[in-house]
Amino acid sequence: MTAKKIKWYVAGLHFECTQCSACCCGPEEGVIWITKPEMILLADFLDITVDELQKNYTKKYGLRTSIIEHPKTKDCIFLDRQKGCRIYNFRPNQCRTWPFWTANLESPHDWNTAALKCPGINRGRLYNFKEIEKLRKQKNWHEKKQK
Ligand code: SF4
Ligand code: SF4
Repeated sequence: MTAKKIKWYVAGLHFECTQCSACCCGPEEGVIWITKPEMILLADFLDITVDELQKNYTKKYGLRTSIIEHPKTKDCIFLDRQKGCRIYNFRPNQCRTWPFWTANLESPHDWNTAALKCPGINRGRLYNFKEIEKLRKQKNWHEKKQK
């Protein structure tokens, strides 16, 4: 039996969002994955149908769906550069769990590479190992909300 490898961030990591919105902005194109249950909640919040949400605010990548970006700036279509995220309470899991994504947590190098575009990384609040792992594995934030 092999010993379980201790994760490099076992002592925790610092993160505190500066609200700079860099992660929601262009200029590069990105993907903002959104699931069907998230779309149902978001459509309800926007007071439109799921079909309207899909048609006007999302695009398909194979079997998955992403929120679209502004064609020129490549900002997320729901970003208001002055006020921030216009759908904050209904933003998808991807936005809620940043920067504690598995890809960013593979190694200190990956974490510090993410820090190059996110000034909130390595500053402010210390997240302990349990909190990090909970966010890294989180899939269904909306289940708690619906209870
Ligand atoms: S880039 Fe980082 S600090 Fe800036 S808004 Fe996004 S999470 Fe917050
Ligand atoms: S949904 Fe909100 S938090 Fe997520 S990328 Fe768009 S503006 Fe940013």
